Amino acid sequence: MEANKIKLINEDNLRLDGRSFNELRPIKIQAGILNRADGSAYIEWGGNKIMVGVYGPKEAYPKHSQDIDHAIVKARYNMAAFSVDERKRPGPDRRTMEISKVISEALSSSIMIEQFPRAEIDVYIEVLQADAGTRIAGLTAATVALADAGVPMRDMVVGCTAGKVDGHMVLDLSKEEDNYGEADIPIAIMPKTGEIVLMQMDGDVTEDELYQAMDMIFEATKRISQIQREALLNKYKIQDIGEGE
Ligand code: ADP
Repeated sequence: MEANKIKLINEDNLRLDGRSFNELRPIKIQAGILNRADGSAYIEWGGNKIMVGVYGPKEAYPKHSQDIDHAIVKARYNMAAFSVDERKRPGPDRRTMEISKVISEALSSSIMIEQFPRAEIDVYIEVLQADAGTRIAGLTAATVALADAGVPMRDMVVGCTAGKVDGHMVLDLSKEEDNYGEADIPIAIMPKTGEIVLMQMDGDVTEDELYQAMDMIFEATKRISQIQREALLNKYKIQDIGEGE
């Protein structure tokens, strides 16, 4: 195994930022903060700062892109030039195209696209500050923005990453852990059914480690779902009376 120059986990089993293995970074979500979009959300997750604006459903353009059976979901993930340490060259690259694609697919699974033939739903995800885990943070905010826009969904999508760092499985990788760790696994689900709508893996883990990552992520999504829910309730100033009836 290649030696890590940076020690990411100390003798007390704490990570560089003081977190334990299964501890999330702080997450804050606000719904409905852009006046001109049909729906919007802003998320701060660790050092990530991401704004999402939703337009639609509206007639898909160009016409040949229309599907007579369902709406098409066009998510566009974009990183601002100032979102990373060294200025990011503006415009799409392979990474942003890949992330846009996996987010579009994840959202298509949750949105009732069959209700809107020939339509498109645009989801603009603008990363203002990146700090690892942006695809999941963007997706988690996008589903809140869609709910804010009143787009019907089977369930809100929620996700988290886990990965292998200094031989340990840990939740919600930081930038250093993402850069110098052994593996990074982002997963998003629809919590009502547990259906996985996004799953990727960068690096190598054993089957057992993969199940550990999934367990940690599934557990964490309960907390993150609650934060999503509170963001929507706050916008409409509704008291949360629980899942109930
Ligand atoms: P994710 O943000 O979903 O974890 P990656 O694993 O590809 O996606 O990226 C990890 C982190 O690396 C990003 O959150 C960001 O902080 C950083 N990063 C990504 N692309 C660039 C880039 N072009 N320049 C500098 N840093 C980048």
